[in-house]
Parts: sequence; structure tokens; C-alpha cells
Amino acid sequence: MNIRLFKPSLGKEELDNIKEAFERSWIGLGPNVNEFEEQWAKFLGAKSAIGLNSATAALHLALAVFNFPKGKKVLVPSLTFSSTASSILYNGLVPVFVDSDPVTLGMDINDMKCKYDKDVVAVMPVHYAGHPVLMEELVPWAKEKGLKIIEDCAHTSGSLYKGVNLGLWGDIGCFSFEEKKLMTTGDGGMMVTNQPELFKDVKAMRWVGIDKDNWKTAQAYTDANKDALHWFYELNVLGYKYNMNDLSAAIGLAQLKKLPEFNKRRGNIIEMYLDGLKGLDGVQPLLPFDPKKYVYQMFGIRAEKRDKLMIYLKSKGIATGCHYTPLSIQPLFKKWGNNCPFIEKEANKFITLPLHVDLSDDEVKYIINSLKEFCQG
Ligand SMILES: *Cc1c(COP(=O)(O)O)cnc(C)c1O
Repeated sequence: MNIRLFKPSLGKEELDNIKEAFERSWIGLGPNVNEFEEQWAKFLGAKSAIGLNSATAALHLALAVFNFPKGKKVLVPSLTFSSTASSILYNGLVPVFVDSDPVTLGMDINDMKCKYDKDVVAVMPVHYAGHPVLMEELVPWAKEKGLKIIEDCAHTSGSLYKGVNLGLWGDIGCFSFEEKKLMTTGDGGMMVTNQPELFKDVKAMRWVGIDKDNWKTAQAYTDANKDALHWFYELNVLGYKYNMNDLSAAIGLAQLKKLPEFNKRRGNIIEMYLDGLKGLDGVQPLLPFDPKKYVYQMFGIRAEKRDKLMIYLKSKGIATGCHYTPLSIQPLFKKWGNNCPFIEKEANKFITLPLHVDLSDDEVKYIINSLKEFCQG
């Protein structure tokens, strides 16, 4: 056995779309990106969506659009991937790490309120593993304080929570299409909003400061009716090279069609895991997974003998991981505070188990049996 932790599910549909882009001989920022943006916006019910080369870029730009004065503070969970907090540093802002809710592992709302002070300008909830943060509590509180809300949706893609899709509860939602995520474009990301005015500069910010769809200018070059200014652009904002390209979008367009099926399969696997874990001593599900309601990018457990169990699973050919070492104890971030006592201790129990669409029922059963052997042995 050799079972991967994560694995993208790719097929003929993705290759066909790539072939089309090759035949058009346009693989940079182009019509596929536009099409993918439109379809993603439609899928989520968002008014505007912009394609980027990663969620890291999306998080960076999501904060940048608000132009906060340097040195202001942003509330961010300690239990997240580096990018959520790095985006705060990219903007010259200060991360304020928030502890996790002991049950859901999302941002602890009480700790968030305790850590608020008048220098805080934004909050970045992360729907950890895909489980929704208590947005019905977070959003009214943040709005009352005048904070901007940026949702890190890297672990979710199309979860309806209390009638609103995750990613649309706050001001801006950021999604990831990195190869381990719910669907992939190789590398890629998307930012969405229902306040399109927020995105008025984002097309320039993602493409070196130029706000013009460059694939349209290709036509303008040969358009006899255009004057000699078809090449003209103005630089008004500082831009980055953060655009998605047409090859990535080609993959994304095929993956988006499959996403509902992907999500269903992930839900089935999680149900098998939950069933298999019932009554096992020393291990419990990482959080109250509810795959009938929500989409999950990760499945994991909390294990008393974490390291021993990881080594055992490795000996059985089962890859595992730990998501994450809390950022508040990482050397890079330590100096901004080391005060998330619950998660800094609890994360020592975490094991991420394999979860991907192509995992077979037999493989899942094999993993469950291996867990049983360890717990009963
Ligand atoms: C993967 C991930 C990101 C970054 O996504 P990229 O597309 O790889 O830049 C951000 N936040 C979380 C929680 C993630 O898991």
C-alpha cells in the first residue's frame, strides 16, 4: 500500500481544454481566465470574481485594496497556513493571533473580542478544514467595530452556511486552487466580492499596474478602425504579477464542472471515516464534521499517542500530516505574541488522514482497519 495524503483528480476533460488553449496559442492572461472568473462568480453567487496565481496573492490583494495605514492590526487565527498571516506582513500590518474554539477549531469568538483594540482594522476568519466559522456572531460584531472581513476559503468551495455561501459573508473571500485543495488549477486562486467597487483597482493590481485585458489588445493591434493609441496604458496603482493564466484556467474550467461530484465523494469518504472511528479509544475526529451540510478539504483526528500512531500508519504505507503548527509559535511570527494557549497545546494531537477524490473504498477501509489495529493493539 502507498496511500497519498492529497492528490488532484485530473482527466481527459482538463487535457482537452489545455489542447484548445494550445490551438489558440494564447496561454497567458486571456479569454479562459475571463470565462473561469464568470463561472466561479456564478457558482458562488458572487457579483465579482478575479482570478489570480494563488490564494496567497488573493489574500495579499484583499488587504491591499483597503489601503490601511501601516502598523494597523489584523485579527487572524493562529491555526492556519502561513499565507493568511504573511499577507498581513506583506501589507505592513501587524498580525494579532487568535486562539481556536476547542470544538470547531475555528477562530474563538471570545478570544477574538478580547484581543481587539482600537488599532485593529480587519479580521480574517479561516474556515479550517472547511468547517464554517461562526459567521453569524463574527460578522455583526466586526461590522459594529468598523472592521473589514476577509474570509480565507482555501479549505472550502461551495458550502452554504445559514443561507449564505462561505466567501460571501465578509467583504472579500479568497479561494485556493493549489493542487491539494478541493479543485485545482495547478496553482491558482480567486477573490470574490458582492461589492464590485472594492475590486475597481484589482485587475491592475494583479497585472503589474495595467488595467486592460491584454488579450483584447491583440485584436486592437490589427483593428483598422483604431487610432494609434491602441498600445496606451496608464499606471495609477502599484501592481504585482499575480494574474492567473489561460492554461491554469483551462484546467479550472474542467475541474469546476466536476466539483459537485468531487464534493460528494469527499463527503462519502468522511462518512466512512466517522463511522469507522466510532468507539475507538484514544482517537476522535478532529472537529464535528458534518459532510451532509459542508464541504471539507481535510479530514483528521485528534490522537493521544500522535507520534506513535503516525509512525504506525507510515509503516502501513499511509501518508499523514499535521495541519498546522500554530503560527503563534513559528519563529517568524513569535514576536507578535505567544498567547494562544489552547491551540498551541492541542495541535500536538492532530493527524491529518488521506482525503482525496480518487481514494477507493478499499483504501479507506484499510486506513480505518489500521487505526483499529493501533488502538486495540
Ligand atoms: C493553501 C492555503 C492558502 C494558500 O493557498 P495558495 O493557493 O497555495 O496560495 C491559504 N490559506 C490556507 C488556509 C490554505 O490552506
